Amino acid sequence: MNILLPQPIEPEAVELLEQNSCKLVSCPDPKPETVLPLIKNAHGLILRTGITMTRELIEAANNLLVISRTGGGLDNVDVSAASDHGIIVTSNLGVNTISVVEHVLSMMLSLSKRLTTMDQAVRGSNFGIRYQNLPRDISGKTIGLLGFGRIGRELGKICRHAFDMRVIAYDPYLTDDSKTETASWVEMLEMQELLSEADFISIHVPLTDQTRNLIDKEELSLMKSDAILINASRGGVVNETALVKVLENNKISGAGLDVFDEEPVPDDHPLLKLDNVILTPHSAALTRECVVRMATEAATCVLDVFAGREPKNVANRDVLETGRWKQDQTVTV
Ligand code: NAD
Repeated sequence: MNILLPQPIEPEAVELLEQNSCKLVSCPDPKPETVLPLIKNAHGLILRTGITMTRELIEAANNLLVISRTGGGLDNVDVSAASDHGIIVTSNLGVNTISVVEHVLSMMLSLSKRLTTMDQAVRGSNFGIRYQNLPRDISGKTIGLLGFGRIGRELGKICRHAFDMRVIAYDPYLTDDSKTETASWVEMLEMQELLSEADFISIHVPLTDQTRNLIDKEELSLMKSDAILINASRGGVVNETALVKVLENNKISGAGLDVFDEEPVPDDHPLLKLDNVILTPHSAALTRECVVRMATEAATCVLDVFAGREPKNVANRDVLETGRWKQDQTVTV
């Protein structure tokens, strides 16, 4: 079976696939025009974030059985095009939860303690900074979570238990069961209330038509003037132009951003001139440990499909009911 890799994956995952007699085809780069001719003979594809699997690419894939995402977001896959062609799409929700949570906590702490400003001041012989711009404690403050899924919930749990924070959340899709499970330590609020009450707002929703620009000018205007916004979900969820404006005018205290409208961030982007932000290159899940977990889990999903087993986290379960997969879930190529 041929597996196409638009971008390299970790050696542990390569080894796992090769031990299972898969032939790996690595693309020299993840540009659509490079991937298009190579996808024709692929049976499986392991997808990072460097390319979008459009309908055009999917339609060129004559033998493709599975697209397996190394991460959780599926905004770079046309899932309905995959479904139309009987291709299973899997993601790796959960595998990167703790790494993203640790990244968000680092941003919260770093912005509150003004670490980058302090570091630069000491290097610039300004030890007197210790009496100015005093840092803030996060203990006892309120964290507002937009999206209370795997990452939002784990972050909330740590904030509650490690920092004695008040945890408030907004997630209209939660089941009653999961609300009951967490009712002792989180208050579910409407988004407007959450925005005006939180000292930290951290976003953990997928990018969809409903969540694009979820945080826009009006939502930003509801935030406290000393609040901090963290976005480690997807760029399009926050209106970047509106965010730059409130940061430039110090209408909020600061922001920690791991994701952007355009990645890599263009050299002339106004965010790069601001000193009340911390910017990271979509690296929240890219810890040494997590990249191995994500790649091996993605490889396992592909192997499961090839072996006729249902893989974890199928995003388009409707496909499992179609002709190709229905007969005893046995793959025929
Ligand atoms: P998840 O599916 O477990 O949770 C997402 C939650 O968002 C769900 O509970 C859902 O009900 C909620 N939601 C959906 N639409 C909403 C809306 N309009 N308003 C409020 N809540 C809404 O996913 P997760 O593992 O917690 O990850 C969340 C997102 O974080 C992913 O979709 C991905 O895009 C992003 N992510 C980024 C990185 C990174 O490297 N920066 C890594 C992992 C995940």
